[in-house]
Amino acid sequence: MWRNIAGQNKVKEKLNTIYFSGKIAHAYLFYGPDGVGKDATAIEFAKLVNCENPSASGSCDSCSGCRKVKSLRSELLSIVTALPAGVSDDSGSDPVEKLSQTEFENYMEELEKKSLNPYHKITLHGANNIRINSIRWLIEKIYLTASEGKVKVFLISEADKLRQEAANALLKVLEEPPKRSLIIITTSKINALPETITGRCQKIYFENLRTNEIIEKLSQESVWQDDEIRLAAKLGCGSYSNAEQLLREGIRESRETVIKFLIASIKGSYGELVSISKNIAAKNNREKVKHFLFILNLWFRDLLYIRNGVNSEEMIVNYDLRERLIKLNVNYPHADIFKIILELEDAERLVNQNVQPYLILVNLGIKLTDLIDKAN
Ligand SMILES: [Zn+2]
Repeated sequence: MWRNIAGQNKVKEKLNTIYFSGKIAHAYLFYGPDGVGKDATAIEFAKLVNCENPSASGSCDSCSGCRKVKSLRSELLSIVTALPAGVSDDSGSDPVEKLSQTEFENYMEELEKKSLNPYHKITLHGANNIRINSIRWLIEKIYLTASEGKVKVFLISEADKLRQEAANALLKVLEEPPKRSLIIITTSKINALPETITGRCQKIYFENLRTNEIIEKLSQESVWQDDEIRLAAKLGCGSYSNAEQLLREGIRESRETVIKFLIASIKGSYGELVSISKNIAAKNNREKVKHFLFILNLWFRDLLYIRNGVNSEEMIVNYDLRERLIKLNVNYPHADIFKIILELEDAERLVNQNVQPYLILVNLGIKLTDLIDKAN
């Protein structure tokens, strides 16, 4: 049902029109910022095209077609995603089966999480590319006939991770698409995809969500308190996934950690920095580190507004903590905020590479010591 998806009313209307007109293209490209529901909508659309009781509100969510799609483990919807580098590219079998035992278990766990929450982003350590074998496997599956009245949907998630040869292989399928199949490609970096690919897909743009749309969807989950939901929706800056992650990680705790980290940096207290950083990066959880950097980034973005005399609730994300921001600005008027934001972006880039995540944070803290207290 479309109400599983936060906001995106234009997209929902468009997809409904496409479906009920019977003019479904063989390939779609869903593009737009991270965390706004591109994969979730692709899964929802896969349900609709395979639903036994479709209506204007979308799929019925309960027939066998819908349930099969939702499981993410049926022939009706296959997800193609980046896999760890250990997978060899030498034959055409399902690359997932070639993962090591631990990697395979992690993959299944991630798939399970995504079937329960379509907004979940599948993240596997060392999975930086969509491999040629994953596309070969897709080709093998897509040319097998779908069961009567069904459509086989292939979701290529974060398609900007397609390697050149994988993209070339995919291009061949897009040129000669088999009947009763549908490829949905999602990406937040459309410019990273070759035009030969984007040109063969019908493009659908996903915009940032409004705060009230995020609130509405989060309230459906009824796990969190209203005031926390409101704060998370605002801090999420248009991304449902960000807001949800903030709630799961404990929103107030995350901000406290950021403040502790900042205080340790300002004091230049190396021991504290190491211990806080190790805590954040426990078990080498890169997603947590990214989450921390995201909140830290918001903090400095707010500080920049405060410095420029902007003090409205609309603009300041951490509005409830603005007194602390004002104090920080008064005490450190020479803090080089632009440079700090660049350093944060650099740190985020490093998290995706093979660098110990806690070391990235310690290094960042040491740089902040200088950049915040420029006068000394
Ligand atoms: Zn259904």
